Amino acid sequence: MSAQTVNASQAHESMFEAVLARLDVAAKIMNLSEEVAQVLRNPQKQVKVSLPVMMDVGKIQIFEGYRTIHSTHLGPSKGGIRYAMDVNADEVMALAAWMSFKCAVANLPYGGAKGGIKCDPRAMSVGELERLSRAYAASMKDIFGVNRDIPAPDMGTSGREMAWILDEYNKITGEDNPGVITGKPLAIGGSLGRDAATGRGVMVNTLAALKKMNLKPSEVTAVVQGFGNVGSHAARLLSEQGIKIVGIGDHTASFYSEKGIDITAVHEYVIKNNRVLKGFTGATEIAADQLLISKCDVLVPAALQNVITEENAPKIQAKLIVEGANGPTTPDADPILHDKKIICVPDILANSGGVTVSYFEWVQNKAGYYWTEDEVNAKHDIKMEIAFEHVWNNATRFKTGMRIAAYITALQKIEQAVTLKGAY
Ligand code: NAD
Repeated sequence: MSAQTVNASQAHESMFEAVLARLDVAAKIMNLSEEVAQVLRNPQKQVKVSLPVMMDVGKIQIFEGYRTIHSTHLGPSKGGIRYAMDVNADEVMALAAWMSFKCAVANLPYGGAKGGIKCDPRAMSVGELERLSRAYAASMKDIFGVNRDIPAPDMGTSGREMAWILDEYNKITGEDNPGVITGKPLAIGGSLGRDAATGRGVMVNTLAALKKMNLKPSEVTAVVQGFGNVGSHAARLLSEQGIKIVGIGDHTASFYSEKGIDITAVHEYVIKNNRVLKGFTGATEIAADQLLISKCDVLVPAALQNVITEENAPKIQAKLIVEGANGPTTPDADPILHDKKIICVPDILANSGGVTVSYFEWVQNKAGYYWTEDEVNAKHDIKMEIAFEHVWNNATRFKTGMRIAAYITALQKIEQAVTLKGAY
């Protein structure tokens, strides 16, 4: 167990503290200036709003909304809007900080932000969700801006919510500004390639890591947890590269087959089956807690946070973990994976394909000129390969794992910007 990883595993009572623990480890190794570390330990702006919404029953309900701008040193802040019951100030702050580091690792001209509304979108009607989204957009009219703060979808939101928020924002400002929000439907300025981008980034990072490990895609097997946006595209793209997908799972069921699972058949099945895996017959059903520890070379957690823990990390058989989800590995599990010599491509690198194509959407909106899907994918792949190489080189240079190396890569960029611009 290295000194770096011990320290990172000690402080994580809150999600934001878990981010700071890893930031502190990276800061120490790279000798980050204490002033810059202080700037990054404290988000620039935190906004909490109360949103009164007329519900279908004819009564007003108040919802809590949040937006945290963590940093703007590299450019306008960028980050999604999450609709979920467990949204709170601490979580939004942690996710905003991750966005600062993710954008810096991917070399995008953005700082980091995140927003959220404490609500259960599945328990609300379409009309209630539209009124809530518009109320949120109105309350954030002085925060959002095409060169100021650019939101996007996150858990519980999609292009539909982005369209309402864009429309409300444009009505209030009296201007047509599609670049103020990304992850939009294609018809109103979305980008080709955005839907599959995060899964595509997972695929590019996996291939880059396998190359370093001297493994050919055709020789390896993979397990993917989650079959939503990230997991389904990642599984499809990995299998197109010749990687045998032996395990898949979602919140309804998990499956394993040593012979490999036909991912095209899975896609066809979920489309007919309300987008869930339950009932799939092309592989053996296994217990949910067996999926991550089943036999494979590559493990892709692409569902939710805190799934690789102190308890199951000792049993993980994969040689390579590529984090499609945000925060799937707890700080306590990091040193265990490190001791087992498992290479872990961390979330802030592995899932940055999504924000990279969001950046391309913003560039296309600003230029008013739209690219083909092949152009988007080609530009994305180059950016991801360069980001992977920077992190890999820093891991070698600073004799640390990929996670801390990714933080170092981000901090090097942000430190330069803070130093050049001045903290204030
Ligand atoms: P999604 O809602 O489309 O899919 C989530 C998947 O996880 C579903 O298949 C769901 O069944 C599964 N799941 C939920 N609970 C589970 C459980 N207990 N066990 C196993 N599976 C479970 O979400 P998504 O957009 O694919 O996001 C997944 C993760 O990737 C999240 O952590 C998200 O923050 C992160 N992420 C997403 C993007 C993006 O562009 N969508 C970008 C970066 C990071």
